[in-house]
Amino acid sequence: MDTELQQQLPVLISLAADWARQQERLIAQHGFPLPEQGLELARGVGVRQPVRVRIQVVPEIPMPDHPALLALSKSSGLGGGSVGLTLGYGIYVKDGHLTTQLVSHELRHVHQCEILGGIDWFMAVYLPQVAILGYREAPLERDLGRPLASPCSEQPAGAACSRRCRASVDS
Ligand SMILES: [Zn+2]
Repeated sequence: MDTELQQQLPVLISLAADWARQQERLIAQHGFPLPEQGLELARGVGVRQPVRVRIQVVPEIPMPDHPALLALSKSSGLGGGSVGLTLGYGIYVKDGHLTTQLVSHELRHVHQCEILGGIDWFMAVYLPQVAILGYREAPLERDLGRPLASPCSEQPAGAACSRRCRASVDS
């Protein structure tokens, strides 16, 4: 990680947390709660308060418009072509991608956010991980939780996913 990015990180974390809270509020207004099956799924990946989760299906996953945040998203492999994004208890799912596998993965991020102590703490851990290691290597992305099936139906579970395939399942 270059020093410039290192210096920017605290500001980026705060911007990302603000943006995430804003999006979480929007999803709370427009999204739907988990159905019974989804509540089970959420409990299975460790979510403490599944009833607070809301999912909103959208044509495209919104991205922050702040230039520095957008640049970080792009350079770390976060943006572009993602089909799911979790912001606190809010989950965006791209239209046509509402699958158990995707929701299970996103619910794992809800769990992480809960145990880390909320959006600010989540961003304080998550953002440096993706900035330094890249989205695919970030430990919070590799913490798949128990029920997450292999995203590649053609490949046996545990086989190395291609970049394309991994990108298609996630935020
Ligand atoms: Zn993820």
